[in-house]
Amino acid sequence: MLDNQIKNRETHMGLFSSTEFKDLKCLFIDQLQDIYDAENRLTKALPKMAEKASDPELKSSFQQHLQETREQAERLERVFEMIDEKAETKTCEAMKGLIKEGDEVINATGDETVIDAALIAAAQRVEHYEMAAYGCLRNLAERLGIPQAAELLQQSLDEEGNADKILTELAEGSINREAAHS
Ligand code: FE
Ligand code: ZN
Ligand code: FE
Ligand code: FE
Repeated sequence: MLDNQIKNRETHMGLFSSTEFKDLKCLFIDQLQDIYDAENRLTKALPKMAEKASDPELKSSFQQHLQETREQAERLERVFEMIDEKAETKTCEAMKGLIKEGDEVINATGDETVIDAALIAAAQRVEHYEMAAYGCLRNLAERLGIPQAAELLQQSLDEEGNADKILTELAEGSINREAAHS
């Protein structure tokens, strides 16, 4: 594997950049760097979501997913190792935006059950983004003939799906019902 297969060129203004995709492995590395950045950002965002949550089950689901998120970042480091690449990040603009939307909720005032419902809405957007990322990465790993990497990526995909499902259950259960009565 050649180093620098991905060349990010930026103008001196930093306004434009272009990425070169020579082959599928370049794309795989690019996507890995993106989700690695996203997971690292989430390890900083999730504690704030947990702190803001009032419902104890919601709070603990954020705390549990924080632990999973740390493991997902470690899994990505193992995938980088498998392909002899340094674990590097590439700014995930989408996750930056999703976390910014989450910050709006963290800074919001109002009814605590409505705030919980808003935290769930923000968190589910994040989980769906991650599910898309891990699904693509798992497919790429299979296509590139790296089954051990595909398996690790599938594990993270399953965790994201499970996190999403728990949030749906919490929303459909007590939280939105209580919020509707606020
Ligand atoms: Fe994640
Ligand atoms: Zn991204
Ligand atoms: Fe948005
Ligand atoms: Fe997640």
